[in-house]
Amino acid sequence: MVVPVLTARFGVPGAHTLEVARRHGVYADLGRVLALDPGAVITEVTASGLRGRGGAGFPTGAKWGFVPPPERRGNRPVHLLVNADESEPGTFKDRVLLWHDPHRVIEGTLVAARALGCHRAWIYLRGEFKFLQARLDAALAEARAARLVGPDVLGSGFDCEIATLRGAGAYICGEESGLIESVEGKKGMPRIKPPYPAVVGAFGDPTVVQNVETLAAVPWILEHGAAAYRAFGTPASPGTKLFSVSGHVRRPGVYELPLGTPFPELLQAHAGGLGPGRTLQAVIPGGSSVPVLTADEAMGATLDYEDMARLGTFLGSGGVIVLDDTADLVAALANLTRFYAHESCGQCTPCREGCGWMARIAARVAAGRGTVEDLATLEDLARALPGRTICAFGDAAALPVLSFLARFRSAFEARVQP
Ligand code: SF4
Repeated sequence: MVVPVLTARFGVPGAHTLEVARRHGVYADLGRVLALDPGAVITEVTASGLRGRGGAGFPTGAKWGFVPPPERRGNRPVHLLVNADESEPGTFKDRVLLWHDPHRVIEGTLVAARALGCHRAWIYLRGEFKFLQARLDAALAEARAARLVGPDVLGSGFDCEIATLRGAGAYICGEESGLIESVEGKKGMPRIKPPYPAVVGAFGDPTVVQNVETLAAVPWILEHGAAAYRAFGTPASPGTKLFSVSGHVRRPGVYELPLGTPFPELLQAHAGGLGPGRTLQAVIPGGSSVPVLTADEAMGATLDYEDMARLGTFLGSGGVIVLDDTADLVAALANLTRFYAHESCGQCTPCREGCGWMARIAARVAAGRGTVEDLATLEDLARALPGRTICAFGDAAALPVLSFLARFRSAFEARVQP
């Protein structure tokens, strides 16, 4: 069953324009929501159980609640940064959402800004999203002209300016503190935490960094209520999620499904299954940085935070990469390690050096020039990363290596010299 919380206007001609978006319900409830007490908005979002859809899955209401109240932050403004840096290999749902339904993302940004007491928000796009920036800027101009953005939104007395920003193409700018550094005009190098951005973020002010898909769900939750949202998904993983499916499937694309949907349903009923005569070999369920699953594990899995944890992996960003029996898993890992070596920001020695070494060894193994000792070294390097770096990139680079070696060891052993 496809539930149209996030994709209701996908396929509606002209839905990116204000006139069509409004005809299909966008901004319909905004005036009422802006009149609510901000605390009531946070309470409703918290009650919905909405978790951040960027990858970490952190509860959204709790995150908003970390921002110090006005009496404790003095004159410091609050910043809302919409994370549209979507760069995780295998993940392409935020760009689809922004392309088809930019006004719903703007509406979600306005609601979140109101709840946070923020009067200036930025939508931060990855460097390659030039085409999206033009579309969003046009949508923002329309919204501004209609008094939906800017001073006194819809006559509510609430002021909120929203602008777009585009990065320079670095994966690490999707990490919230790297994104903040980039917004400040610096290199996107993650910060040591604490302090957390909710307290000391952009320009030293309280800041919330929130993923596009998360914000797009917020207006629906406010309009229909937390209980209606909780009617989808599982008790621990409520709501719906966008899954971007790529790899060896007949219909790659973005699918909205309730959390808790069995993986075989996504694969067969939505993504069209595998090619003729092919069998499933492996699935990366949440973007390239989460541990890979075997075919048996994936076919017995449900797509929610808890079942992924049971299997030792993560739902992540919902970027599902399907690999059939023709995939060269050794080459696939070499490709992933090359990506992480390229994207490490270089601040932490284990990440900067470890990623480079892992990429060189994985490439040697994939080329058939590796040895049994190389596999042990690869594993040692990956084990040295998690928990020893400034940001989660270290874990993201290590987990594919550790999981490919653990679950598909024989493929690697068959490729190396004795
Ligand atoms: Fe940079 Fe890697 Fe350290 Fe993150 S873990 S701060 S990407 S060097």
